[in-house]
Amino acid sequence: MSSLVPRPGILDIAPYVGGDSAIPGLNRVIKLASNESALGASPRAIEAMREHAVSMFRYPDGGCRALRQALGDRFDLDPGRIVCGAGSDELLGLLARAYAGPGDETLYTRHGFLIYPIATRTVGATPVAVAERDLTCDVDALLAAVTPATRIVFLANPNNPTATYLPATEMRRLREGLPETVLLVIDAAYAEYIDAADYDCGFDLVDEYGTVVVTRTFSKIYGLGGARVGWAYCSEAVADVLNRLRMPFNVAAPSQAAATAALGDVEFVAKAQDHNRLWRSWTITELRDLGLCVRDSHCNFVLVQFPAEPGRDAVAADAYLKTRGVIARRVASYGLSDCLRITIGLETEMRTCVGALADFLRTDPAQIAASAR
Ligand SMILES: *Cc1c(COP(=O)(O)O)cnc(C)c1O
Repeated sequence: MSSLVPRPGILDIAPYVGGDSAIPGLNRVIKLASNESALGASPRAIEAMREHAVSMFRYPDGGCRALRQALGDRFDLDPGRIVCGAGSDELLGLLARAYAGPGDETLYTRHGFLIYPIATRTVGATPVAVAERDLTCDVDALLAAVTPATRIVFLANPNNPTATYLPATEMRRLREGLPETVLLVIDAAYAEYIDAADYDCGFDLVDEYGTVVVTRTFSKIYGLGGARVGWAYCSEAVADVLNRLRMPFNVAAPSQAAATAALGDVEFVAKAQDHNRLWRSWTITELRDLGLCVRDSHCNFVLVQFPAEPGRDAVAADAYLKTRGVIARRVASYGLSDCLRITIGLETEMRTCVGALADFLRTDPAQIAASAR
């Protein structure tokens, strides 16, 4: 018997389960489960990482200076108020560590990103899920959920897995209604995919309020999920706190080089945006034509709702897609057990996926239900 006991909250964490990448017995699969970029990484980023390989024995620049400077230039921000992390997940975890602890609460929306409750529990604080309206953040409900124990509000905008978003005026109303002692963390991982004219990722709110942080990532449109690079734009005081908390060499040198190169390949990013816009819209139209309930999406994935009938539900659809080599994402852990989240991939991948779903809906549900047993 070991007498080692982890700190309170840690054993309450349901470990994050990523999207599957393999199907037993198949060597070629179509992976639409993790919102990875359809087009992969920019050739310039791949080249930068390759070139960097010979310098791998050297420690990275712990301050990520070149990358922060490039981000500052690209988005017209003060590089001194940018902090880079090993993915934005690391930064979300550091923010929880910095501003919440035992006895404190953090708020997130009912179908918000699962890293928020995980990051909260790692520091012994209590995550509080707040009801949404029509799968969208409800500002009034969030404000009503604030208690003297509230320290952080975590909000993805646009949100994963609902693909919905909050307009800039609503985000401002949220900040205005929150006490100044509460940090608002806006996770803008999908900012590059949204076209809505009333959207803004929130850099202006960071400049106006010392109590807003915007996080961004290289894992989605830049196609660098495996390189682990994210960044936060925040006040000088928050940047100082994050720089004290983070480990000195938290972003690998080849990853810094790849991210800087990816950021510079503006044309490649535009191509990825165009691709996503086109195939997202095609996918939504096709799936709706099949009679499925699909929400509008502002991200690089769609959320598809299935009927509750045996043989027609999300579990059956997921299993059927796998028989055709397509890996979608079940989102039951997000409280959406009747839905699948499907990433926008390449044209052939989307055609295969939609074709498979059409076949699924044509097959007798009794037969599907029987073969699942
Ligand atoms: C994918 C995703 C991220 C990105 O995480 P990284 O650690 O930067 O790879 C952040 N937030 C949300 C909501 C996401 O879906």
